[in-house]
This record gives sequence, structure tokens and C-alpha cells, in this order.
Amino acid sequence: MVTALIELQGIRRTYGGNNDAPAVDVLRGIDLSIQAGEFVAIVGTSGSGKSTLMNILGCLDRPSAGTYRFAGEDVAAFDDDQLAWLRREAFGFVFQGYHLIATESARENVEVPAIYAGMPAEQRRQRSSVLLHRLGLDGRLDHRPNQLSGGQQQRVSIARALMNGGRIILADEPTGALDSRSGKDVMALLHELADAGHTIVLITHDRDVAAQAQRVIEIRDGEVITDSGHIAPSNALPAPDMRQAGRDSGASFSSELGEMLRSAWRVLLIHRFRTALTLLGIIIGVASVIVMLAVGEGARQKVVGELGVMGANVMYIGSAVPRTGGPIGVLTLDDFAAIGELHEVAEVMPILRDPALIRHGQEALHTEVLGVGDKLPQIHHWPVARGRFFSAAENREVAPVAVLGHGVYEALFTDGSDPLGTVILINSAPFEVIGVMSEKGSDAGGNYPDEQILLPHSTGMVRVFPKLRDESYGAIQVKSSDLVIQAQTAIEELMQDRHGRTDFRVYNSAAKLQAEAKTRQSMTLMLGLIAAVSLLVGGIGVMNVMLMTVRERTREIGIRMATGARQRDIMRQFLTESVLITLVGGSFGVISGLAFGTLLILWSVPLVFSLSAMLLAFACSMGTGLVFGYLPAKTAARLDPVVALAAQ
Ligand code: ADP
Ligand code: MG
Repeated sequence: MVTALIELQGIRRTYGGNNDAPAVDVLRGIDLSIQAGEFVAIVGTSGSGKSTLMNILGCLDRPSAGTYRFAGEDVAAFDDDQLAWLRREAFGFVFQGYHLIATESARENVEVPAIYAGMPAEQRRQRSSVLLHRLGLDGRLDHRPNQLSGGQQQRVSIARALMNGGRIILADEPTGALDSRSGKDVMALLHELADAGHTIVLITHDRDVAAQAQRVIEIRDGEVITDSGHIAPSNALPAPDMRQAGRDSGASFSSELGEMLRSAWRVLLIHRFRTALTLLGIIIGVASVIVMLAVGEGARQKVVGELGVMGANVMYIGSAVPRTGGPIGVLTLDDFAAIGELHEVAEVMPILRDPALIRHGQEALHTEVLGVGDKLPQIHHWPVARGRFFSAAENREVAPVAVLGHGVYEALFTDGSDPLGTVILINSAPFEVIGVMSEKGSDAGGNYPDEQILLPHSTGMVRVFPKLRDESYGAIQVKSSDLVIQAQTAIEELMQDRHGRTDFRVYNSAAKLQAEAKTRQSMTLMLGLIAAVSLLVGGIGVMNVMLMTVRERTREIGIRMATGARQRDIMRQFLTESVLITLVGGSFGVISGLAFGTLLILWSVPLVFSLSAMLLAFACSMGTGLVFGYLPAKTAARLDPVVALAAQ
């Protein structure tokens, strides 16, 4: 004797039995065997346990006791993935309520089982067309279930049952909701399928319908009371190869992805308003991440730029009128020498500074002339563009040489001719131009270095400013920028000692800038936190809407499981949806962040956009989708197929 395709022994199913619900024995020891190719009707009154039995036959549910052998294999040993495989490869369900996915077209509904079986798209399309054509649904391929009559919907669900072969058709009251004509059509179809070798298990409460089957099994109160017995079929379709059970369907993530994206997109479109609101949270989150990072970067670059102009480790000292009264202080060359001895100090440079009249040929201008040390280019990180700076020797020897600021050069040499070697007059004294400084721009102190002329300190003192006898001002370069505060204290103590009173002042703009940079940094951090929080709130919105979606689509999840989806397929589908929401939100967020940032730039807020910040924001939004979509997706994947199918 051949092994039966389906063999049940002592199958029991008990509901409840835990604290609140009393135990109900719905199936009470069913023994039953069905051969491949049989057309069996299971008949019984409502509540007799037919649907419960069908759920067990179709591996949607597990029995409480007893054994179920499918093609000789004990199904109890199968894990969830193997059961999903069996539903996909062996069974095709036809339900009283059709159970089509409302958001998908007729064709898409039919193709669902094939997607989970990993059938390539082209082949899927062909097969669904052939099936729908065979079932007389040409011209209805793109209709949604609610655009089809009951009879048409039931034929779509039969096509779906056949999509992966449908060796065993489990039909639970397939004609129950149909008018008599449509019901007859469906019965005729089942007969055709039986003739073609499909095993049909037809469940009905109607004896007349049951009588059309070759074999009739009657159950009452969860027990088989009559069985008309086997009728050996001749041309049965073979059982699936059980050695393949649980093998991966070959439905690779990437091939499923397109399909999942398509259906996720459709769901989002159907709930446009809700989706838009959820998107808003993500958009605001991502846009603020982008803008905040740009603000932070802008502030950082501004400070770095200012430090570059001023020098991160340069401070100035000037004479001052003491608060206690008395004459203005005088800083002597000896004072500068003593400051230069301090171990925090790298260079010190007295500066003479006064406006003077400059002449060159026909051109004349009033501008600031500085007598400085030969180390100026190094102290101020300000290189010479043409020619050279003067040397320490020239400074000692009172050489009549001058280096022009970029702006001065442009003003004096309007024809752009070579200034090197030419002679200009500064307050009537002749000077040879030996260099032109590079362009520097204005610094934070409102100085315009490009409009200055630089002379050796000694030359300035002797030839240009004979009345400016005393040095009252100078620049100090500290060895490193973290020493600026320490150096300031040391200089102040030293000068206090030397002068016995506070007749000087140290201008420590480097320390000021550093402090400012710190405040800006902490502000950026705070803004960043706000951005992160808004992204978090957006993520919670996504989670909320996804949990809602899972609730609303519980039945769809059941349908997908009945047609062979594994838990991970369901999980992936809902994750795809949440990630799609956050990716769309992320894209709009990037766009609105850029737009808002541009607006801020027009308001002259220093903003610097960076590609890495945008990628980061994008990655964050995608991560948000994954993190906040995980729980809803997990909830969906964990649903019991029978419970899910029974949902509204
Ligand atoms: P039929 O399909 O023959 O009408 P069912 O198999 O649907 O019957 O149900 C058989 C019995 O099991 C009914 O009395 C029903 O109330 C009970 N039942 C079905 N599902 C559950 C459940 N999840 N929890 C408790 N009782 C259930
Ligand atoms: Mg029922």
C-alpha cells in the first residue's frame, strides 16, 4: 500500500484551558487518511470543527495531540520555516471570505505565493496571466478586490491557490458566500482540478455540495462519524519532494526587495495623509540635523578663519593709562626684550604704527605705516607674495626698504607693473620696495593689514616717525596656542614687576577667540542634540504608524502566511515599509535642510554644508526606520496565522 498523502492519527485540538478561558475540545481524536488525487468533502454542521481541522491539515495550526504525517513525514518535527515551505509548495487555500489582499490587484494577489517561492518576475507574470485567463478573468487583471464580484474574487483566490501548483486545494466553504450560479462555477472548477490530478479537500456544511465529491467524510463535535472511503485516483499529482522541506525558496532578498518596495509604496500612497504626517516628523528631524551640522561647521570655520588671520597664538601688548591715575605707560625695548625671555614666549616684536603720506609717481595716498620686526610673516602666518621680507640685519642697519600690503600695491601700481626695486616716498623719505605681502583680508579687530606698509622697526623710528620715540605697542607670539592664558599671566606679572603699576594692557584676542570657539562648540552640541531629539520623535511617529498598519493589516499578514510567507518575509516587508517612509522623509529632509540653510546664508548666518553631514543624516533616517520599524515588524512576523486570518 502506498503512503497516504495525508495521514491523521488521534488529532485533538483544545482551545483555552488557561486561567480565564475554560478548555474546549474542538477536535477529539480524528483519524483520517487521504490519498493523493482524492476529491474529499468534509461535511458537518456549523461549529463541528471543520475549519479547525482544515487549519491543521493546511499546517496553519498545530494539533494539541495526535500525529499528522504528510507524505510520510511527521509534521510536528517541522519548524515554522518548513511549515511555510509546505504551505507554499503543497497547499492552496480557498476561503469562504476569499481573503484577497485589498490593496493589491487581482494579478498581484495571484502572484503573492510565487513571490515567496522565489519565482522570477517574468515567469510569475506569465503564469498569473495564464491562470486568470483560464478562470475567465481576462480584463480584470488590474482590478482591486473591491472592484470584483464575489464570484470573481473567489476565482482569483482559486488562481492564487494554483499559482505554486496547488497540489492540494483546501477549500473552506468556497461557495458559502456566493450566489448559486457563481457557486456552481466554483464547484465546476474544483471538479476540473480534481480531474487534473489535484487533491481537493472541500469543507462544507451543505450536504448537497458535499455529495458532489467522490468521498464524503462527516464530522460532528470534533469526531469523524462517517467516511465513504477511498476511491483510488489514477492520475494524481505527486507530493512535493519532502527532502527539499525548509530549503530556502531561492527568493533572495534582492529579488523580493523590488516587490516589497512596490507594495510598500502602494500602501503609503493609499494612506497619503497619514504618511505625509509621519514623513513630516522625519523631514523635520533630518532637516534639522543637516542645518545644525552646517551651522556648527560654519561657526567652526569662521573661528578657524579668524584665528588664521589673527594667529591662534598671537597677543598684543600696549601702553595704557593706569586706573589709579598718572601718566600713560611707556613700553621700552628693554621691556620687550624681557618679555622675549619668558619661556612661554616664542617671539616678541615692537610695533610702531602711524598714518603717513605715500607717493609713487602720480599716485599718492594716506595709509598706515608700521615699523615691525623681521619675524612678522612668521608671527602672523602671513607670507610674502612677491619679492621678500626684510632681514634682521636690515632692521639693525636702518635699511630704507618697504614691503607693501596687497591693497597698497594695487593703489600705487594701478597699471600692475612690477613694484620690486622701485622707490616710493613715505612722508618724503625715499624707500625701496622689496616685497608685496599676500592678500590677508580684514581681521576681527577691524584692522586692514592689506592697506598697510611694513618697514623695519628701526627705520620707521629713525626716518618716518622721529617724534614717536617710545615703543608703546607690540605683538607677542606664544610658543603654542594652549599657552596663551598662561603667557598672558606671566607677561602681566613681569610688567607689573618692572613698572610697579598697571600702565599697560595685554590684548589677548587668541584667548578670546578660543573661548568663543568653546561656547560655539557647546552651542553646536546642544543644537545637535535638539536635532537628534527631533529625529527621535520622528522615529517614534514611524513606530506608531507602523504599529497601526500592522493592526489594520493583520488579516493581510495571515493571508501572506497562508500563501507561504515565512516570518522573515513578513518582517522584511514591514521593515521595508518603515525604511521607505524614513528614506522618503530623509530625502525631503535633505532638500528642506538645504533650502532652509540657503535662506540662512542669505541672512548671512555662516553655514557650511557638507556631503558627509548629508550622508550622515540620511543614514540616521534609515537607521531610524530600521530601529523603530523593528518592533512593529517583529509583532507582525510573530502573529499566529490562524489568529491573523480571523482578524477583521
Ligand atoms: P466550523 O468550521 O465547523 O463551523 P470551527 O472549526 O470554526 O467550526 O469551530 C469549532 C468550534 O471551535 C466552535 O465551537 C468554535 O467556537 C470553537 N473555536 C474555534 N476557534 C476557537 C478559538 N480560537 N478559541 C476558542 N474556541 C474556538
Ligand atoms: Mg468554518
